[in-house]
Amino acid sequence: MSGYSFELITGPMSCGKTEELLRRVRRCIIAKKKVVVISPDVDTRSKGDYIESRNGLWLDAVKVKHSLQILNFVKDAEVVALDELQFFDSNIVKVISQLMSEGKKVIGTGLDLDFKAEPFGSMPELMCIATTVDKLHAVCMKCGCEHATRTQRLIDGKPADKSSPLIMIGGDETYEARCIKCYELPDRNAKKKTLGLKLLQFSKD
Ligand SMILES: [Zn+2]
Repeated sequence: MSGYSFELITGPMSCGKTEELLRRVRRCIIAKKKVVVISPDVDTRSKGDYIESRNGLWLDAVKVKHSLQILNFVKDAEVVALDELQFFDSNIVKVISQLMSEGKKVIGTGLDLDFKAEPFGSMPELMCIATTVDKLHAVCMKCGCEHATRTQRLIDGKPADKSSPLIMIGGDETYEARCIKCYELPDRNAKKKTLGLKLLQFSKD
């Protein structure tokens, strides 16, 4: 067995995470490694059994509902590629640790922050156990700068309220990458807009 590794590619919407994952997976395929690609079966997406980057590249993928099911599909794999890690349940941390202990190479992508600019799912733990972490930036869809690190949810073209659910099923929402200055999170209860920068407050304790 060659040494284990877990390469994590993260950042906001539209930063090229899946494109980078596919680039690395294609290199493994050229090297004749046994590769399995897995993505979470989330109702918000009606895609088929494949993953696709925004520039149209795609690869066949197994869809799973629960993290532990991953182990059933990767017994013979040398390389395991996991897309949209933020959507997997918390067992994903143990599953990836096990794959690493078996000497497999794991390559994963995931949104680091949700639309409220809070850590998404198990991504904090995954960043800790990763052997390398690449944080990609997107182009801000509002000011055009190249340092977008936030994912803005828009409903009817307006920034979604703080009370909006974390995962919307069948909603008409859209998402765009924004920099920390252009990101907005309206708080309907407080009747004011919270800028990304103001989210970085100290806790009281
Ligand atoms: Zn901006």
